[in-house]
Amino acid sequence: MSITAREKPWALIMAAGHGSRMAAALGGVRKQMLCWRERPLYWHSALAMSRSACVGGLVFVFPEDCLRQEEERLRQSRKTGDFGLPWLVTAGGSRRQDSVRRGLAALPPHTRKVLVHDAARPFVSAGLIRRVCEALEQTMAVIPAVPVTDTIKTAAGGMVRATLVRENLLAAQTPQGFETGLLSQAHIYAQEHDITVTDDAALMEEMGHDVHVITGEHENVKITHLRDLALLAAGQSSRPCVGMGQDVHRYGPGRPMVLGGVRISDGPQVVAHSDGDVLLHALMDALLGCAGLGDIGQHFPDNNARFENISSSVLLSEVLDMTRRAGIHPTHADLTIVAQTPRIGPRREEIRNNIARLLNLPALCVNLKAGTEEGLGFIGRNEGIKAYAAVTALAEARTMDESFYF
Ligand code: MG
Repeated sequence: MSITAREKPWALIMAAGHGSRMAAALGGVRKQMLCWRERPLYWHSALAMSRSACVGGLVFVFPEDCLRQEEERLRQSRKTGDFGLPWLVTAGGSRRQDSVRRGLAALPPHTRKVLVHDAARPFVSAGLIRRVCEALEQTMAVIPAVPVTDTIKTAAGGMVRATLVRENLLAAQTPQGFETGLLSQAHIYAQEHDITVTDDAALMEEMGHDVHVITGEHENVKITHLRDLALLAAGQSSRPCVGMGQDVHRYGPGRPMVLGGVRISDGPQVVAHSDGDVLLHALMDALLGCAGLGDIGQHFPDNNARFENISSSVLLSEVLDMTRRAGIHPTHADLTIVAQTPRIGPRREEIRNNIARLLNLPALCVNLKAGTEEGLGFIGRNEGIKAYAAVTALAEARTMDESFYF
């Protein structure tokens, strides 16, 4: 049986929690305001509601002190991607149930059914929302839940008092669906009788109403502890990035020529503090560029004795350690040497293979080009050599860096 738009349930997106322990650890950012895939967590739940095609509208319940700010953010988000649903905002209260009560009061009149969803469950699927809505067509109250896998015990004073029968235990999730009138009555009753609960279904139970259960989804976890943020990171797709680098070395009495870690015994000598490997220097700058880590001059200054005549292959391994720590995984390097002499062609494959080895990439992911400058400039006068590098990499989405926050 299909439901018309007018009869579709509205959803309360509960984003009014203070989450003080986690907010303290996140520099004051409330978890529901955390940014995941460039949107606040609560936005993802709202989008899932929209995709389910069975929700009629949304009420966002925010903390009073950031209500206008979040309303403005939602308004701005319409420019880049709308929910395609009517929505409004309202201020929550001190306890979760106070916030739900206020959310219910903000619903348009004659909203017969309502879903209540925790904004800290951003992985809820449109399919689960749809199944809750379908079950709600036949019932007054329905919740999704998943079987408990741990053995649950009650304890007091450091002693186990009982072991609960696991087969009877379920972990309740949201969205929970209700007849709006019944849920509103239950919340008013709880307020009058000073009853505190952790979910809305418990209030319905308190009132003696049947609460139906449908199968929830294990992915529909609630972001509660700091460690749960790793789940968000795992859900983030990595982002491609490109770094470019270039370097020049003068010819003259100095170091025997090394290009890409390969000794070029018939090449001119180069003036350098390190081994003067112009190609690896350009490559390192490109890698640092992917990671936003500046350039090799900052990390390996040429007035530091440690780097005198040091093999650039060693420096490259240090750069790769830095970029790996920054979550950068190189996937491709395109390199160009510009020099009048020596001729690169005969050594091209050897240099390419060596760089592939140093980067731990297949040789087909490294390209080496060579050119002259038609006799022009310092290259044409055979006074030096230059190199360019472009590195393509995948950057892991990070959990705890500032880009994670709004
Ligand atoms: Mg250099």
